[in-house]
Amino acid sequence: MSQTVAQDSVVLIHYTLTNPAGEVLDSSSDGDPMAYLHGHGNIIPGLENQLTGKSAGDKIVAPVKAADGYGERDDNMVQDVPRSAFPETPEPEAGMQFQAGGPDGEAQHVTITKVEGETVTVDGNHPLAGVDLSFDVEIVEVRAASAEELSHGHVHGPGGHDH
Ligand code: ZN
Repeated sequence: MSQTVAQDSVVLIHYTLTNPAGEVLDSSSDGDPMAYLHGHGNIIPGLENQLTGKSAGDKIVAPVKAADGYGERDDNMVQDVPRSAFPETPEPEAGMQFQAGGPDGEAQHVTITKVEGETVTVDGNHPLAGVDLSFDVEIVEVRAASAEELSHGHVHGPGGHDH
């Protein structure tokens, strides 16, 4: 009997992510399927929910509202920072992305949106915050997780962690 996607399933998927304009933002189609451990927050909740109960071979289109994806945009995360807070090189430029320590110590992706004189405007929102997403998903394989995978909270092997 084929397995269906449930808590603690290892799931391999091919996916294509598009925005409301139909532009492809990300896709696994050029490489191996992505592997994740179902029910452990490995992927965004709005997509994970829609995969529950599916089995290998199923193809679905999964719309995910921004709030269930990378969250709504938060204008408080846009800040002006003095140029002196940045290293001499490279010169800060609009469009640069880097990681900064967030308030809870977690890595936060920050994008420079504007440089004006000595003022650099940075945006700590995820680039996909506020964007409604649509995933085209093909479920490639569903299997039970090993005890080791469960204890690590992620998948080992092809498409997952290889440590
Ligand atoms: Zn591991």
